[in-house]
Amino acid sequence: MSKRVFNFGPGPAMLPTAVMERAQAEFLDYNGMGVSVVELSHRSPQFIDIIDRCEALFRELSGVPDNFKIFYMHGGARMQFASIPMNFMPRVAKPKALYFETGNFAKLARVEAERYGEIIRVVDGESCGYSAIPSFDPSAIDQDAAYAHLTANNTIYGTRWMEFPDTGDVPLVVDATSELLSREMDYNQFGLVYAGLQKNLGPSGVAIMVCREDLLGHAMPHTPTMLDFKVSAEERSLANTTNTFAIYLLMCVLEWLKEQGGVAAIEKVNEAKAKILYDALDASDFYSAVAHPDFRSTMNVSFHLPNNNALAEQFIAEALEQDMYALKGHAVVGGIRASIYNSMPVEGVQRLADFMKEFERKNG
Ligand SMILES: *Cc1c(COP(=O)(O)O)cnc(C)c1O
Repeated sequence: MSKRVFNFGPGPAMLPTAVMERAQAEFLDYNGMGVSVVELSHRSPQFIDIIDRCEALFRELSGVPDNFKIFYMHGGARMQFASIPMNFMPRVAKPKALYFETGNFAKLARVEAERYGEIIRVVDGESCGYSAIPSFDPSAIDQDAAYAHLTANNTIYGTRWMEFPDTGDVPLVVDATSELLSREMDYNQFGLVYAGLQKNLGPSGVAIMVCREDLLGHAMPHTPTMLDFKVSAEERSLANTTNTFAIYLLMCVLEWLKEQGGVAAIEKVNEAKAKILYDALDASDFYSAVAHPDFRSTMNVSFHLPNNNALAEQFIAEALEQDMYALKGHAVVGGIRASIYNSMPVEGVQRLADFMKEFERKNG
């Protein structure tokens, strides 16, 4: 038996053990063909079956309406920070977009987009240390903007949008990298939802794109062919050699998620898992949560120990001795971050909560 720890890493993150075992079993000989899935042509009927199955499962699990296209883009989530303005800015006469800046990735997205047009920051969470989603004046939603961009779950600080803002006719573009398929979402609110696979859905380097059909076909003339959403949607992500192994693993994860009862069922589990950790934080004067209680993420729980980095280092080292891996907070926040995506079992979270109590007793 291989050793498996509880992996609290933010991404690439743990995948379900059942999925990893299946991938291992199928690795050398996919479907009795005598070739590995990584050795299979992306245009072979067997791979087309895999990509079709992903789409059917994703639609079934998420309830995406028929007027949305599902496709994959190279370069993970951050490549899309540039491809989104390139694809959408020409929808309006004067290139302009709105950005809700609620965390580190939200800021990176905004900075990247500034090369392509005028950017209006509807909210700027920096003043509250990104510990909350600031409220905003609806009149700030300029209806002449090409789109409005937000980050659904702020992976580093551990905050999230509980409800998504109404942007009127301006399409809402959502970076859902760290929470896609962790909660139910009504796609009718959105123009585009996108996510790097490596947090909740599979390996790194690829983004899944769920895009309203009428938003396709407006790319800037100099947009690289491989970054043109319309090309990818029309060619069914096979304009060039797609990341076949990532899409195969995505299929395995989606099948696993269906076996867990789907998104509504896993959302309940995710809420229960997060509650275990937030209850432990709320019951303690030793630890302090980064996120304001009204905006707590169910995917990433960031917290501090008493103002002492040495103590955080000790926490991380002792947790590792108990097979809890990758609890170090992001460099911009410090402290501890427990990433508890769909794949993290309740037992992992319970073990962490027990360890927190014990660590406080010894060091508090
Ligand atoms: C991890 C993350 C990213 C970065 O994804 P890459 O695939 O590494 O580019 C972007 N946005 C959010 C919300 C993330 O959590």
